Amino acid sequence: MAGEPEDDCLFCKIVAGQVPATVVRETDTTVAFRDINPQAPTHVLVIPKVHYANAAELAAAEPAVAAGILREAQAVADEDKLESYRIVFNTGGGAGQTVWHAHAHVLGGRGLQWPPG
Ligand code: 5GP
Ligand code: ZN
Repeated sequence: MAGEPEDDCLFCKIVAGQVPATVVRETDTTVAFRDINPQAPTHVLVIPKVHYANAAELAAAEPAVAAGILREAQAVADEDKLESYRIVFNTGGGAGQTVWHAHAHVLGGRGLQWPPG
């Protein structure tokens, strides 16, 4: 059920400490950890502790938690001393989403092209 931990969800397992991750920040409602396959010098995933399939579902159900993801993205950028960075929410398989637990990619530390392709 949305909002409840899902048995088969990798990111719910990271939240529960059942799968190891390099955690860089944690709040009451979010966890931020380094992506296992980084696409930039800084590549951190910021996730809600609650399970929703994507960012839009999270924002509809728990807008304060969704806003917290954006605050935490800025905090990650501050900690890594990034002047510029990108926040990406891949939503749907055609956009590259592979983990069905809402997450923001925070990317920085190198030049980032726009449009991204
Ligand atoms: P998506 O493709 O769904 O937007 O992003 C999922 C991200 O999770 C990918 O960038 C992928 O590298 C990352 N990822 C997948 N499995 C793990 C894992 O076990 N640990 C960590 N830290 N990241 C993971
Ligand atoms: Zn989950």
